This record gives sequence, structure tokens and C-alpha cells, in this order.
Amino acid sequence: AEAVGGGDKEAVRAYFNSTGFERWRRIYDPATDDVNRVQLDIREGHAQTVAATLAMLRDAPDVPLSGATVCDAGCGTGSLSIPLASAGASVLASDISAAMVSEAQRQAQAAASSSPGFRMPRFEVRDLESLEGRYDVVVCLDVLIHYPREEAQKMIRHLASLAGKRLVISFAPKTLYFDVLKRVGELFPGPSKATRAYLHSEKDIEEALRAAGWRVKNKGFISTQFYFAKLYEAVPVAAGSS
Ligand code: SAM
Repeated sequence: AEAVGGGDKEAVRAYFNSTGFERWRRIYDPATDDVNRVQLDIREGHAQTVAATLAMLRDAPDVPLSGATVCDAGCGTGSLSIPLASAGASVLASDISAAMVSEAQRQAQAAASSSPGFRMPRFEVRDLESLEGRYDVVVCLDVLIHYPREEAQKMIRHLASLAGKRLVISFAPKTLYFDVLKRVGELFPGPSKATRAYLHSEKDIEEALRAAGWRVKNKGFISTQFYFAKLYEAVPVAAGSS
């Protein structure tokens, strides 16, 4: 039986403070050669997701990045928080894993010296359910994969409640094709006994957004050999149809 409720979350936290931290730190760090072919492919796919997210946010005329308040929920090693901070955004970078947060902090300190307009993010160890406050932009990349359907939907509703202008989320799409791939173990190879991967249907994600009063304004799809992500840029329905 699958762990549900707090069970998944505790397993995810433990994983990203131990083996998961080591694995993903290497995957996300382009300066590290110590990755296999699959991990390198995932690194490239993830970098495309980060780049597409930055492009979406740079193109948002109503939310100039410089001075915008951004909540990066589940920031990992800071792959997105750091370029946002370099663009002058005021970033809250938070993650359930203390190991991830201190690595993000270390990388931000290194980046600060080479980026004149850098605004040091605020770093916090906390799960995204306990995030509070209001932000122009809330971003949550590659986190929903760790949670089953209902928890993921709850997370989306909570994140939407924190966001004023944009909500950007990525998730691994649940389609027959990816489901089969996942089952045969090609999609998420390597040892990951501590956690399992949950794919989400676009319909479920859109429904959760709609229930929160948000709609999808822009969609992206990133795929490499081993990495697949749908990227949604959502806006509040009340903001009009632009
Ligand atoms: N968003 C980052 C990125 O794209 O570079 C990191 C993605 S990594 C695959 C997933 C991250 O989500 C991990 O750092 C993990 O600790 C974090 N995470 C998982 N569940 C979380 C939760 N409930 N609240 C906050 N962070 C969480």
C-alpha cells in the first residue's frame, strides 16, 4: 500500500536530506561531472524547465521581475531562486529539506559576488503547506511529482492562495504513454527506493487551479529522453482575459 497523508511527506523530507540530496545536488550542478548519462539528460531537461519559467516571468508585462516578490516553493538547490535574485526579484526560497536550503544558500552567496543587482533571497526550511503571506509570483517546479493526486491538488490550492499575479508550476504529465514508460522503469531509473513518482493529469491540475479561481494562461512542455514536464503559467480569473 502507498503511504498517504503525512507518510509521503516524511519520506520525501528524509530522502531529500540524505540520498536524494546527494543525487539531486549532483544532477542540478552543471559544474559537477560526477553524473551518469541518465542524470545528465535529466539535468538538461530540468535546465530547460528553469529557462522556460524565467522566460515566462520575463515576458509578464504586469509583473516586472525587478522588485517583484517571488515565493519559490520547494527551491531545491536554488536553480530558479538564484537567477530570479540576480534579476532583482525579492525571493523567498524555501524547501522542506534543510540540506537543500543550505546548499541553495551556499550557491546564492557564490552568485551574489558576480551579479551586481543581486538581492539575497530569504531562505527558509519549511514545507510548502506551512508557507504564508502574499507574493506577486509563486513558483513550484518539479515538486508535485512527490505527491499523490489529492495532496497535489491541495498544494495547488494553497499555493494559489499565496499568489497575487502569477502561479507557475511544473509536473510530470500522466498520459497512457508516460504511465507505461514509468511502469517499465525507463522514466525514473536508478535507485529511488525512498520515494515514488506520481504523474498528474492535465485535467486534475487544471481543475485544482480552477477551484482556486485561477486559469492557465500559458503552457509549456519540456521533454528530453528521461525528463518530462508540463509547465503551466496561471493567472487569477478575476484579472481579466489578457
Ligand atoms: N524546485 C527545485 C528545482 O526545480 O530546481 C527543486 C526540485 S526537486 C526535484 C524537489 C524539491 O522539492 C526538493 O528539494 C524537495 O526537498 C522539495 N520538496 C518536496 N516536498 C516538499 C514540500 N512538501 N514542501 C517543500 N518542499 C518540498
